[in-house]
Amino acid sequence: MDQFNFFEKRALIRVDFNVPLNETFEIEDDTRIRASLPTINKVLDRGGSVVLMSHLGRPTNGYEERFSLKHVQNHLSKLLQRDIEFAEDCIGDQTITIVQALLPGEVLLLENLRFHPEETEGDKNFSKELAQLGDVYINDAFGTSHRAHASTSIITQFFPENKLLGTLLQSEIDNIDSIMQNARHPFTAILGGAKVAGKVEIIKQLINKIDNLIIGGGMAFTFIRAKGGNVGDSLVDDSLIELAIELIELADAKNVHLHLPIDSIIADDFSNDATIKNVKIDEIPDGWMGLDIGPETQILFADVIRSSKSILWNGPMGVFEMSNFEAGTKRIAQAIADATTAGSFSLVGGGDSVAAINKLGLADRMSYVSTGGGALLEYIEGKELPGIKAISG
Ligand code: AMP
Repeated sequence: MDQFNFFEKRALIRVDFNVPLNETFEIEDDTRIRASLPTINKVLDRGGSVVLMSHLGRPTNGYEERFSLKHVQNHLSKLLQRDIEFAEDCIGDQTITIVQALLPGEVLLLENLRFHPEETEGDKNFSKELAQLGDVYINDAFGTSHRAHASTSIITQFFPENKLLGTLLQSEIDNIDSIMQNARHPFTAILGGAKVAGKVEIIKQLINKIDNLIIGGGMAFTFIRAKGGNVGDSLVDDSLIELAIELIELADAKNVHLHLPIDSIIADDFSNDATIKNVKIDEIPDGWMGLDIGPETQILFADVIRSSKSILWNGPMGVFEMSNFEAGTKRIAQAIADATTAGSFSLVGGGDSVAAINKLGLADRMSYVSTGGGALLEYIEGKELPGIKAISG
């Protein structure tokens, strides 16, 4: 982006404005919008105009009010301190007319790309229609760069010369590369959340680079069960028990310290009103489920984190959306913030972990907060992301 001459050019920017909205369509977390500002401002400051395209949520059947990007227009206008025009469709004659009238310094926001199923299908004709809206294409949507969608990847065919990585996307790559290639040791990865399935490959990849692997959240119970523990009705993926045993052995063979929870806050129902108690992780009675790490585990994990020089975190330690099961995630976030203040490098990614640090007001205390969830994991796994490959080859 730094070398490109944007003067009197229209930049078509794929941003990631997939932000959470409440029932009255107010933005609950604007991290992703703020993260796109440097790229937008760079074009505007150098005499270009900007056409913004994004998806929001997962509409399945055309237009739906709750997924309209018009809910983002006013907030974006405040952040950019200028008026933003809005096009009610991302393609079509009317949109082309608005685009052609754009003057340098002006910004147009297009309606949700996913109101057209062709977006996720990666349709070439749809990409071509979008491509008419810009002289230069910029991809700044890291969160969707692992998808070969029309606006993230296929569209680049129509910009053989004029296709660029945005500032945000570039800094995501730089920060992830920096921790994966030049981490200071001890390097600790913390994984949580519900599903083991999506995280097996990343564990295999990380094990070659890290010193400590902390596993919390629902995914820990598959490992506890694999070690012969009683986990009651906690979340377990039976099909992955064998694999969990392999991963435990692999960590051992590579001298990686695998830290699993030692105690758990268990509940007799998946509800904030359930009866709760604290028990040893491998002594959970039937009829009860572990919904957070326990206080002893918090201390254990926090100690490992505080003695680490590089920290990668993805996934909550418990069902943090419910107040009775948020303590573990809070404590871990606090420990990462403290380690960062003491000079360690921390990279946090994934919707839930980022929501947790925002809720705790700790985002500014992390070295880098990634806007990617799935994209971050796939990048770390070493996969080529279509949105990045389409630009940098
Ligand atoms: P994932 O999509 O795999 O990153 O999982 C995120 C979700 O995992 C969050 O919505 C958490 O509520 C949930 N989660 C974390 N810990 C547990 C647990 N012990 N049991 C069930 N769900 C959990």
